[in-house]
Amino acid sequence: MKKIAILGSTGSIGTQTVDILPSIDAQVTALTTNKRIGLLETQARALRPKMVCAFDEAAARDLKIKLADTDIRVLSGMDGLTACAAESGADIVVTAVVGMVGLLPTLAAIDAGKDIALANKETLVCAGELVMRAAREKGVKILPVDSEHSAIFQCAQAAQGNRIAKILLTASGGPFFGKTAAEMQGVTREQALRHPNWSMGAKITIDSATMMNKGLELIEAMWLYDMDPADIEIVVHRESIVHSAVEFADGAVIAQLGTPDMRLPIQYALTWPARVPCRAPHLSLTEIAKLTFYPPDYEAFPALGLARRAAREKGDRGAVLNGANEAAVGLFLDGKIGFADIAARVAHALDSIPYQRELTLDGVLAADAEARRLARA
Ligand code: NDP
Ligand code: MG
Repeated sequence: MKKIAILGSTGSIGTQTVDILPSIDAQVTALTTNKRIGLLETQARALRPKMVCAFDEAAARDLKIKLADTDIRVLSGMDGLTACAAESGADIVVTAVVGMVGLLPTLAAIDAGKDIALANKETLVCAGELVMRAAREKGVKILPVDSEHSAIFQCAQAAQGNRIAKILLTASGGPFFGKTAAEMQGVTREQALRHPNWSMGAKITIDSATMMNKGLELIEAMWLYDMDPADIEIVVHRESIVHSAVEFADGAVIAQLGTPDMRLPIQYALTWPARVPCRAPHLSLTEIAKLTFYPPDYEAFPALGLARRAAREKGDRGAVLNGANEAAVGLFLDGKIGFADIAARVAHALDSIPYQRELTLDGVLAADAEARRLARA
């Protein structure tokens, strides 16, 4: 039986992880939320983990009262999140919190020798170099949950020791596909939150609208598969059926296809290398009938170019890109800045913050803090 800790169990990925648990032989050791303690209580009563965490201190106090009749330990803050990752007795940790808040718990889990089912892409964007090095040193597996990276992982199993020559990273294009920058000037929060194919948390949905999500995924793929970002091509594929593909030296392209449902990649990260029946609907190619592919519009979606630049330059640029983006997306969701301001503020942070090539954890935290400060100014 696999022992699983789920960080961010009340979110979109977290609840879908809970949903597939009956398909796999698993025992949950830890669950975490920020504030949604009603849902966390329900999950905790059903799954009986050893410990739970509400990141928010006030929410944790209320949760403690709710779970007073159980022997479940209730923790809070970064210490609590880190304990759930590293000390709950898990074999594998699903990192499904949103944002770079996932970095320290992920590093703690790796240090404790836990495998990682990684949904929290911001962690790799900020500190991919440190995270991948730590995983190598500890012999820990990083199993991708992000659908594109799961697809690449599945396709890469055809490599048999051959190098991957190229990654074809597919993108839905989001709700504003085909629009010019001028046409997107005045888009509202509600329009940006309407994703055509996927139902996800608010932050990643906005990232999909700006296409920063694909930029973050480019950096995520670069670290996971040790690729030159120049060999990662972004392909807009409106139907979200081809989840990504890899190309080999002879020109053979191997793709992974499926319905747009995160439960398959989540489940595969937890059962790999085994495959077991999944609750996600199966694909009918004849019902889909047609698949379309387009080049991305780097002019209309400047976030793509900014992420490419951060990928090329490495060092602390991922942390700057991500920190500024998290802050700017927060401001946009609060109605404080316009849609186009998101990429503009990220660009400003990349231009203004002095570049650090040598990456340390303190350097990542400092770059992140400075990028957030600038993006909010
Ligand atoms: P959600 O916003 O739906 O859920 C995030 C989870 O993290 C919730 O449990 C939330 O608690 C918790 N959380 C939020 N802020 C904090 C904080 N400061 N400290 C601790 N916990 C916090 O996000 P998603 O599930 O959509 O995304 C999670 C991650 O997975 C992201 O990195 C995203 O990029 C990635 N991902 C998501 C996909 C999807 O389909 N949703 C697809 C591929 C990748 P609360 O419930 O209280 O808000
Ligand atoms: Mg994705």
